[in-house]
Amino acid sequence: MDILIVWLIITPLFFAFGWLAGRIDMKSLMKQAKQVPERIFDGVDALVDNKTGLARDELQQIVSREPQLIDLQFSLGRLYRKKGENDLAIKLHTQLLASQFVINTETKEKIKLELAKDFQKAGLIDRAETTLLQLLNSELYSHQALKLLLLIYQQDKNWNEAIATARKLASSDVAYHTEVAEFNCELAQEAIIKSDFVLAKEFINKALQTNRQCVRANILLGELYFIQEQYEAAIEAWQLIEKQNYQYIPFIINKMHDAYNKLDKQKEFITLLMGYTKLYPQINLYEIVVTILTTNNEQEEAVNYLRTSMLTNKKSAKIAALLIEARLEELSTEAGKKDAERVKNVLLSYNEQYALYSCGCCNFKSKTFFWQCPACYEWESISPNT
Ligand SMILES: [Zn+2]
Repeated sequence: MDILIVWLIITPLFFAFGWLAGRIDMKSLMKQAKQVPERIFDGVDALVDNKTGLARDELQQIVSREPQLIDLQFSLGRLYRKKGENDLAIKLHTQLLASQFVINTETKEKIKLELAKDFQKAGLIDRAETTLLQLLNSELYSHQALKLLLLIYQQDKNWNEAIATARKLASSDVAYHTEVAEFNCELAQEAIIKSDFVLAKEFINKALQTNRQCVRANILLGELYFIQEQYEAAIEAWQLIEKQNYQYIPFIINKMHDAYNKLDKQKEFITLLMGYTKLYPQINLYEIVVTILTTNNEQEEAVNYLRTSMLTNKKSAKIAALLIEARLEELSTEAGKKDAERVKNVLLSYNEQYALYSCGCCNFKSKTFFWQCPACYEWESISPNT
């Protein structure tokens, strides 16, 4: 009887506890749901629709009402930067750094990193550098800070600091050999402009010690010797480029021609040039080959060379234009010559428009060759072939 009474009391209590537990969970869920501001979904929708202006306005209103939402402020800061509103991003991150809601060191460091990105984007390089240098001992953000510093030093053409920073960043995964060699080439180029040839040679040697495949170092080495009238040495430096990367031969072929001319060794140059055309029919040596063969009254040789080149480079408007030019005098009527001239000019303008250097990383295109892509800042990512 006693046991029955006990059970009669306990059973409703179990139900009561269960109901209470359910109520508590529901309350907790409701509370969490209320923590997500309603307008955030309008902001997300605007972002999905690529309406960044509207998304920015929505996020602005939320963070002004609820400044404790730190992550949302980071998103708003990134959105400002994306839209080029760097002054607003700087203001937001500066205020956030002083906010009463930011107390832990990691969040403060993250804000500083974002602030440095704002300064960098706004072109305030000194302020970006100062902010990043404060993060070098950060456990979480020192690597990102160094990477941004490396970018800043390149923007600022501070090649010595860029070399030091790349060395700090270098690891077994990313050695930065290409970059460090290129930074030394930049320093060598500056020294050549100042006619400090001893210093230029030192930087070129450093570039080659860092990266034996650095084509630019051998281009500069040849130029350095050429300026000092050491033509044999210049030719020797330029000839090494064939083994490094033959695709860069068109970059130095005219310079080599000048050096051979200085030595009065035109025949040797023609042998070298024709050797290149046989080994590498796909590279652009067309103009210099045609000029030299035509100058030596080897018109038929020039035409045969262009015909063969057309088989290898079927889409080259330049070769087609050169072939028309080479056969122009053989046309019997003036009207025919004029028509051929017109077709040639169309092909040349087509070539001018579409023969562009292209970055393998970001697809940036340009009529000018750059060792560093101006769009994605990668080194040697632009193909030497148009
Ligand atoms: Zn690029």
